[in-house]
Amino acid sequence: MTIPQITQIESLLSQPQHIVIIPHRNPDGDAMGSTLALAGYLKKKGHTPQVIAPNEYPQFLQWLPGNEEVLIYSQNSDQATEKIMAADLVFTLDFNHFSRTGSDMEAVLKNVVAPIVMIDHHQQPADYAVVTYSDTAMSSTCEMIYHFIDSLGDTELIDKDMASCIYTGIMTDTGSFRFSSTTAQTHQVVAALIAKGANNTEIHQNLNDSWSLSKMQLLGVALKNLRVLEEFNTAYITITQKELDDHNFQKGDTEGFVNYGLTLLGIRFAVIFIENKADNIIKMSLRSKGDFSVNDVAREHYSGGGHINAAGGKSDLNMEDTITHFISILPQYKAQLTQ
Ligand code: 5GP
Ligand code: MN
Repeated sequence: MTIPQITQIESLLSQPQHIVIIPHRNPDGDAMGSTLALAGYLKKKGHTPQVIAPNEYPQFLQWLPGNEEVLIYSQNSDQATEKIMAADLVFTLDFNHFSRTGSDMEAVLKNVVAPIVMIDHHQQPADYAVVTYSDTAMSSTCEMIYHFIDSLGDTELIDKDMASCIYTGIMTDTGSFRFSSTTAQTHQVVAALIAKGANNTEIHQNLNDSWSLSKMQLLGVALKNLRVLEEFNTAYITITQKELDDHNFQKGDTEGFVNYGLTLLGIRFAVIFIENKADNIIKMSLRSKGDFSVNDVAREHYSGGGHINAAGGKSDLNMEDTITHFISILPQYKAQLTQ
């Protein structure tokens, strides 16, 4: 954060405030870790924070300290809207545009008159906040929350619960500290978090060793469906609604499946296409290695976005046509994918 931004935050927090904290729709480890860590911090500073998630998040995140106090907008939209409109201050975390909260909540956020603070590491942040703390070089919004608290001179307020939340988001957004966004500074932050009581072994177990048998079998289906387009160093996976239904699909079950494509030798670009009959879309996750920007692909073709090496989007075509279309756009990226 810049010095003027720090001064402005200090002024926004100079009196006890009712503060709403909002992550993106389909919150992941970084979104929930950052919102809950910030809520823990603001409570310690004498404020009244309320985390409002746009919709449900996976079971494997529900052990996070503070989880029981989260309000879910899609389950309780009247109460959530009331709290948002009554807030003195709103923080939006881990997203760069109101639309990332879903169309219902986006409509509410557009009417907010209270000041908004954005903390986020996605590319192309929208211009809605009085303080936009945006840093695309950061591994995670959780790492930014650590720096946010540090900039305000309050690292001594970080307790075991907050440290565990922050650790979770850094770990999940860096693929367990392996993606190129992981810097020496990231490791310094993680070291500080462990010193403050974050139990790294327990957190990894909570996040990774909690699979159901049906999720494991759904992975088997996904891997059977994996196809390689050698000419483009690209691999993709499809999962149909029927395959989800046959495996008792629960939110979050397919998280990480897309990465298997990238574990194949030589593959630079991996995509998973997941049919969602309720929304009548094919939801996509895109991943890459090196400087091939899946953010660009998602923005250009799939009404989405994200980061250079991890992005998401959607297709309104059926699965078959989505795949045909996907294969048809690859030649324009051939040079980048094979250089
Ligand atoms: P995932 O594929 O794990 O859902 O998301 C990867 C990255 O892309 C995350 O940073 C996520 O915030 C972003 N992302 C996922 N879906 C969308 C989308 O529909 N629109 C935009 N703008 N970003 C997305
Ligand atoms: Mn993130």
